[in-house]
Amino acid sequence: MTKNIAVIRGDGIGPEIVNETLKVLDKVAELYGHTFNYTDVDMGGCAIDKYGDPLPEAELKKCVESDSVLLGAVGGDKWNDVPGNMRPEKGLLRLRAGMGVYSNNRPAKIWPQLADASPLKKAIVEKGIDFIIVRELIGGIYFGEHKTEGNTATDVLKYNESEIERIGRIGFETARKRSKKLCSVEKSNVLDSSRLWKRVMHRLADEYPDVELSDMLVDNCAMQIVKNPAQFDVIVTENMFGDILSDEASMITGSIGMIPSSSLGATSCGLYEPIHGSAPDIAGKDIANPIGTILSAAMMLRFSFDMEKEADAIEKAVSDYLDKGYRTADIMSEGMTLVGCKQCGELIIENLKGA
Ligand code: NAD
Repeated sequence: MTKNIAVIRGDGIGPEIVNETLKVLDKVAELYGHTFNYTDVDMGGCAIDKYGDPLPEAELKKCVESDSVLLGAVGGDKWNDVPGNMRPEKGLLRLRAGMGVYSNNRPAKIWPQLADASPLKKAIVEKGIDFIIVRELIGGIYFGEHKTEGNTATDVLKYNESEIERIGRIGFETARKRSKKLCSVEKSNVLDSSRLWKRVMHRLADEYPDVELSDMLVDNCAMQIVKNPAQFDVIVTENMFGDILSDEASMITGSIGMIPSSSLGATSCGLYEPIHGSAPDIAGKDIANPIGTILSAAMMLRFSFDMEKEADAIEKAVSDYLDKGYRTADIMSEGMTLVGCKQCGELIIENLKGA
């Protein structure tokens, strides 16, 4: 298969972690007989320096026309004083809107080798943490009307059926590719928008008889994530609930450098990035952990390119690398072998196996 990937290295540690990820993708291409073509895209602080704009139209066009986008991270102190609509992060918002990616997909997975890094009790962690939150990304209260009149402020939470249906389908499709369990999270005991949400989810369930749908109120879900995370496989929820729950979920896995994410819209062209930022404090030192980005590339293969075996191979190579005791500084512990960013990439490539 041939796939064209738009590559945004961005700022700070972005170029370092993306370079290692491209080497992993090249090895996957060699082992599985694919061709990955890369198109460089300037976005963030580096684009401000070059064009005076965090995401010029021509750069966005390269992303929209690609088969998917791989992003490192953007931002840094250097651009803190530029006006709000020209900040590096503005490029990211423009990219998400321009690509129409309404579904943010963030896995919460604990690697058994890193179980000690979780703030949860050992007995809870040992039951396993491996679930995905599918969050609606471009609707709900963040995109409703915001206004302040005198001493009263209003934010409107509004969803229509088609907005719920399109994210609901992503939830069902994601569950279908995993253990076929989908938990829809809302606040239907209080909110009309949540009652509509629940109704649409149950209508869709008829089309996915192989997926078991359950409902959970958001306050209960927040408790259950720390009490018994092993019960979840795929959670689907609206924008604000997903924002809060996904931060909670990433925290219980312990390490920011390890967590990937995907954002998808109506087409298979997705945006794939680690959840962390550009880490200016460690940029250029070859000590960043590239695994969040490498696992984002695995998600790209699985969700956008239907390359399940190849995605599995990357995840297995990461797991084998951890089993052998290699650790970058952010996850280093006693008795392990400290490696840098480049060496981490090379060791993961060594562990990659073909079909
Ligand atoms: P950050 O995630 O960049 O860093 C937080 C801490 O985690 C730092 O100590 C950093 O060294 C460490 N860290 C992050 N990623 C790591 C990795 N892969 N390996 C090892 N350690 C890692 O968050 P921040 O410091 O709040 O933000 C820095 C810049 O990144 C800001 O300009 C912010 O706006 C931007 N940012 C960008 C994105 C994005 O591009 N999607 C997301 C969040 C923040």
